[in-house]
Amino acid sequence: MAPAAANYYSTPTHHNPPKQRGYRVCDQCGAIEQPNTRFRLCGGCMVTQYCSPDCQKAHWGSHKQICQHTSGQIATSKQNVLSNGYSEDIVKGVRKFTSAHATLLGWAGFQALQLKRIPSNVRQYALLITLSYRSSSDSLRRFSVMSTQLVPRTYVTDSDPLVGEDIRRREDRCRRSGGIGTAVIIIQCGEVSQVMPVEVDSPSKISWDARDDWDDTLRHFVDAGRTDFIPISSTSRGVIYG
Ligand SMILES: [Zn+2]
Ligand SMILES: [Zn+2]
Repeated sequence: MAPAAANYYSTPTHHNPPKQRGYRVCDQCGAIEQPNTRFRLCGGCMVTQYCSPDCQKAHWGSHKQICQHTSGQIATSKQNVLSNGYSEDIVKGVRKFTSAHATLLGWAGFQALQLKRIPSNVRQYALLITLSYRSSSDSLRRFSVMSTQLVPRTYVTDSDPLVGEDIRRREDRCRRSGGIGTAVIIIQCGEVSQVMPVEVDSPSKISWDARDDWDDTLRHFVDAGRTDFIPISSTSRGVIYG
């Protein structure tokens, strides 16, 4: 599976690629993913990423607890899903969905939380995206967006202290490097859910415009099974799609 990190830099530039509104950081050394590099995703939790096998190895001591906690939850939700007569495909499917649509989901979170205008929302709210499932031979078309809503971020951080701690750790790191914090996007389908943290750069460095139709855009790309979403930016010449 391609790492969720793969799509974060869609348009390579020649000099000094700017950090976009969401960016990927090596959890060990703090390196930022660049267009010509691909970070590796931890296979246990599928959340944390590293620039190299060495960094992944060096980080294991401090990462072990949250990683095993997350993979334990995945195993539990798989059990619940199976005992409720659903297919195990949903568990795998939600992770695949999150990974395939990482750029779109991060963008939707940024727009929904109105981070350009109200950066402090990053600590108050999370975007909850509820999916419905249908069986289809095309794995990208098994889900559609049933609803989207803002929920207090404590929905995640209070119900799961370890995840809360990990989000705060990411947030501290992001703010130390000038960002505004960690946007939290929750993807949920029945009893299966996945939390996606996205570190958000300072709004002054972000060129993406505030758009009200993020919900429609999200539904459109998901329904069409399209994973080629590129955030929409505005310039003096107007709004640029892709
Ligand atoms: Zn590293
Ligand atoms: Zn892990």
